[in-house]
Amino acid sequence: MFPSLRTGSPRTALRFGDRSVTHAELASIAGALARRLRASAPARVAVWASPTLETSVAVVAAVLAGIPVVPVNPKTGVRELQHILADSTPDVLLTAPGQELPEALAQLPREDVTLEPGDADVPDEPDEDAPAFVIYTSGTTGPPKGVVLSRRAVVATLDALEDAWHWTSDDVLVHALPLFHVHGLILGVLGPLRRGGTLVHLGRFDTARLTNALTEGATMVFGVPTMYHRIADELADDPALADALAGARLLVSGSAALPLRDHSRITAATGQRVVERYGMTETLMNTSVRVDDIREPGTVGVPLRGVELRLVDEAGQPIDGVTPGEVQVRGPNLFTEYLNRPDATAAAFDGDWFATGDMATVDSHGRLRLVGRKATDLIKSGGYKIGAGEIENALLEHPAVAEAAVTGEPDDDLGERIVAWIVPAGPPPGATELTDHVARLLSPHKRPREIRFLDSLPRNDMGKVLKRALHA
Ligand code: ATP
Ligand code: MG
Repeated sequence: MFPSLRTGSPRTALRFGDRSVTHAELASIAGALARRLRASAPARVAVWASPTLETSVAVVAAVLAGIPVVPVNPKTGVRELQHILADSTPDVLLTAPGQELPEALAQLPREDVTLEPGDADVPDEPDEDAPAFVIYTSGTTGPPKGVVLSRRAVVATLDALEDAWHWTSDDVLVHALPLFHVHGLILGVLGPLRRGGTLVHLGRFDTARLTNALTEGATMVFGVPTMYHRIADELADDPALADALAGARLLVSGSAALPLRDHSRITAATGQRVVERYGMTETLMNTSVRVDDIREPGTVGVPLRGVELRLVDEAGQPIDGVTPGEVQVRGPNLFTEYLNRPDATAAAFDGDWFATGDMATVDSHGRLRLVGRKATDLIKSGGYKIGAGEIENALLEHPAVAEAAVTGEPDDDLGERIVAWIVPAGPPPGATELTDHVARLLSPHKRPREIRFLDSLPRNDMGKVLKRALHA
């Protein structure tokens, strides 16, 4: 039965700060709440996804009861919150006690989740194809869309990750990810529960807390690139952090590309090779570097068990993947539909293949390398197709560059011209020095035509750069 609660297990299931529950306690607490939810039979429940034990309990209970969960980002602005509520029409909002809620939620009945144990016997398991979640996309390329995910898709992805990462009940996962996206919630909470292992959630990302958790026995780390970037920055002055990371079984990065420079700084200081996996709200996980395979920085690995993947050209024809093509995916991990958006659902599929909007190449070992998003990261300049990520990685190799994002801006002569947005590491370097650096490392046609310096890059809550907010 999903999410597979172990009624007899005394092992810690979830720890948030100094509060934790064992698997047996979680089974009885979530079982009791699931029964109550079943009795009132809401069509959908929203969960105020603060990083708390109660959020996790609420999600587990609703999944047990077969009631679709809409996780809500507590930092969502009013306009977006109204959109999500109007779109997903939940009947009730489950929250941790003591949460202050915005005015926009005043109309929605609220139920505070408490950790009262009860009968661990849970209602009959719902159908595999029944919706388990409506998760809103990160909104990197446009307004977030509600993605309907079945129980089957969630189970397929979690079990494929067990295979790729050799994830077991002995693993203690540590992370500080938000609980309203696939990464933190499906992988980060339901993952350890499915395995019968443990989650230690840090509340907020902090390298001292991470060091502690690892020293106390955590074996796996999940993070987004901005977190690994901070780790890489701090490793030089923090031998305890380096030691703690060196002892971990597995470090996993996802949600955006981990720059090559951060890969190599982490490897140099800890001996660890961070494993990247590639997924999206609509597909859950597609590929991962396998723990038993060569870990080459810059690839997101091979298709997960059960996942089929192909690359297509602009005409939608399958291609070999030496030149970049759009990634299309088929498998049990796919979403059911975009909520209330039959138009968007139909547009996203090519037959039974889901078109991801991501561009990639694939090497002779079948390992995928993401080039970027078709819409924002593939720059068509002077007859060339150039991936923004490659130029970003090259810029980051320059010591005066702390952060870099590359966009294509409309240009009368070139179609698009390459513009580099740079957060300098100290006094801004000369623009020509940077453009020459790129031309020398890559090739002359990949030279940015323009350099813009910024104090910070616009990012969303997952640390993804919002390229639509950058315009020359
Ligand atoms: P929206 O769809 O609302 O514009 P989004 O695509 O960022 O937002 P998510 O579903 O959270 O929302 O993110 C999925 C995307 O994240 C993928 O399509 C891909 O572009 C990117 N991504 C995920 N993992 C990786 C990775 N390991 N390397 C590079 N990019 C990644
Ligand atoms: Mg997307």
